[in-house]
Amino acid sequence: MVHNFNAGPSILPKEVFQEASEAILNFNNMGLSILEIGHRTDAFQSVMDEAQSLTRELMNLNAGKEVLFLHGGASTQFFQVPMNLLDEKSGAAYLDCGVWGTKAIKEAKLYGNVEVVASSKDRNYSYIPKGYSIPDKASYFHYTTNNTVEGSQMHAIPETDIPLVADMSSDILSTDMDFNRFALIYAGAQKNIGAAGVNVVITDQEILGKVSRKLPAMMDYREHIKNGSMLNTPPVFAVYVCMLTLRWLKKIGGVKAIQKLNEKKAALLYDTLDQLPLFTPTVAKEDRSLMNAVFTMADADLEKAFLATCKANGMYGVKGHRSVGGFRISMYNALPYESVEAVTDLMKDFANKNG
Ligand code: PMP
Repeated sequence: MVHNFNAGPSILPKEVFQEASEAILNFNNMGLSILEIGHRTDAFQSVMDEAQSLTRELMNLNAGKEVLFLHGGASTQFFQVPMNLLDEKSGAAYLDCGVWGTKAIKEAKLYGNVEVVASSKDRNYSYIPKGYSIPDKASYFHYTTNNTVEGSQMHAIPETDIPLVADMSSDILSTDMDFNRFALIYAGAQKNIGAAGVNVVITDQEILGKVSRKLPAMMDYREHIKNGSMLNTPPVFAVYVCMLTLRWLKKIGGVKAIQKLNEKKAALLYDTLDQLPLFTPTVAKEDRSLMNAVFTMADADLEKAFLATCKANGMYGVKGHRSVGGFRISMYNALPYESVEAVTDLMKDFANKNG
């Protein structure tokens, strides 16, 4: 038995792998592979339609929201967002809580003025800043809901009238919240939604078309809306895997049900970390991520030994990101509770032997 704690691409439900592999050989009993059908066929159109409608349903989106499946990963959204929403002479507000937010800020600066309203860089991004104010003239306020690398998460939506833009790449559909509060949400699919190669973008129609610059069609959200996410060939297989994963999420009870499981998994992991002095969680308690738990050990040799123990016990993806070091256990939606039990048992055992 293996346990997959990879940070992304990461674990997906077993039944999704099963169905996706069957569709590679024989999609919808057509005698054709999903990899060899045209994206404008009825068969694929119904995949796209279902992926969009499941996203709407699971996120409880109101009628004014558009759901898009686009290429380019979340990194493309770092510049596509300001291209569409930020005029050269206007300003946008950004929160800087980690490496991904920093990259988004860098790209936005190519298109207009950027005010970083707060940053947790001073303490290696180990907390979420609070008590900052957002300028009322900002075109939008951008933040990363979950900081995948550093292991911190925003547990409340900021109170502001400024249009909210969120990078939800690593926690979308993991916790119930009012998704309609956001003017634009984007997420690379490869954690909670599906396979790498596609981005989910959810946007309000009315925030679009306000910038004066000319946009290439592929960068213009309005063109993608007009064309139902089929302005060009979409990443057919990646969209199909999203649809299967969204179906699975609906079947197991949706976002509220998965939130309960995610809270239970995170509680077990953080309680264990807090009980074992050998391990040091790096993030302020109230800002800890339900998706990515980051921790270190004081002794580098013991860190190596713990990594080797994890490997010997079939645990993948435990090593921390190179910028933080230590360890990172990712607990995305599809990770079973049993995997967290397995790693916490291993930690207790390791602490007994080495503490
Ligand atoms: N934002 C966040 C929060 C991420 O975790 C990642 C990647 N793991 C990205 C953006 C970049 O995503 P991509 O590799 O799809 O461009």
